[in-house]
Amino acid sequence: MTRRRLVLLLLIASITMGVSRPRGMADVLEVRHWSYPDYTRVVVELSKPVKTEVRHLAPNPSAKKSERLYLDLPGIWVGRDYPTGIPVGDGLLRAVRLGQNTLRTARVVIDVENYDRHRLLFLTHPDRLVIDVYGERSSGDRRVGPGVPGVRHGGQLSPDAREVRTVIVDPGHGGSDPGAIGVGGLREKDVTLRLSRLLTAKLRSVGFQVVATRETDRTVSLEERTAIAEASNGDVFISLHANAAPRRSVQGIETYYPDANHERHSLHVAMRENGVSRDQLNELQRTLAKWRIAETSPYSQRLASLVQGQLARALPSRYGKIQDLGAKKGPFYVLFLSNMPAILVEAGFLTNKSDAKRLRDRKYLESVATQIATGLERYRDSGPTLAQRNPR
Ligand SMILES: [Zn+2]
Repeated sequence: MTRRRLVLLLLIASITMGVSRPRGMADVLEVRHWSYPDYTRVVVELSKPVKTEVRHLAPNPSAKKSERLYLDLPGIWVGRDYPTGIPVGDGLLRAVRLGQNTLRTARVVIDVENYDRHRLLFLTHPDRLVIDVYGERSSGDRRVGPGVPGVRHGGQLSPDAREVRTVIVDPGHGGSDPGAIGVGGLREKDVTLRLSRLLTAKLRSVGFQVVATRETDRTVSLEERTAIAEASNGDVFISLHANAAPRRSVQGIETYYPDANHERHSLHVAMRENGVSRDQLNELQRTLAKWRIAETSPYSQRLASLVQGQLARALPSRYGKIQDLGAKKGPFYVLFLSNMPAILVEAGFLTNKSDAKRLRDRKYLESVATQIATGLERYRDSGPTLAQRNPR
């Protein structure tokens, strides 16, 4: 993975160049990019949300123009052109350029070398565009190689081709994002961090390698979480959360896996977990419908049912009534921003008195960690044959 943070001092540039900035315009705050084995991610952070789409232009040798993608950003001001842009040079993208296309529209140009397809996502808090560009990296030209741990394979692996060695544990929320707040002020970010530490220790004790997306109370963006996962060559991704509901009587445990056809209930959970509105989720659904999560989805589903099954079977015998809310499909950004099987565990409702009491209890969190680890061991040990036996 390469991760270059390029803070563009666009405001300063636009002030010095003398073209007057129209009123009410917003800014590009930052452009970042990451390279993965089969795609490159470009993130454009903006000071307000925009509606846009990615357009593709074929190479035009007579005009000496190479193949490129571009996005017009209405209401965005960069003030001038950055003709050389931000070099990427990873065999898939050449560079990302910015310019003021019209007085009221900025343009992002992505110079590509081996374009196959792309996807565009809109994330919030802060507002940003995520453009994933897929393609074959130019052969014999693996410029991403040195110092880039994420590209060791050099090619796409199907999920069943890899053994489960490295587990990415992702404690939800953190830092400026407390997540849900429940009975007695119990904060989701604290529960997920405690659970993550216990799960990490448990998984290591049974032979997994573990990388956590955060080990302290810090703010971590969704791209950063998935960048950590991809860079660490994770084989599965486990996101840890705690639930909230307007009705205080609602309690229990549920586990989600990514799928375009989510169930109705999961929309509410997804809206809370993603921090986005229903409209944006509809957009996400459209993206998902077009997208190929079908490849990893059966594996995620199998992992989700094994983990949920363990939790639902083992915990009530020691802790009394805990509703088994099942393994469900859910449109969660964090689950499909990476290319590995992924699940999201909601370990209980912070808004329910009995669940909150359990979630404060270290022994209970230890049991949750143990059951997740057992579910994962069963997933690892049963291998892909189970998926073959029970095709979806
Ligand atoms: Zn959460």
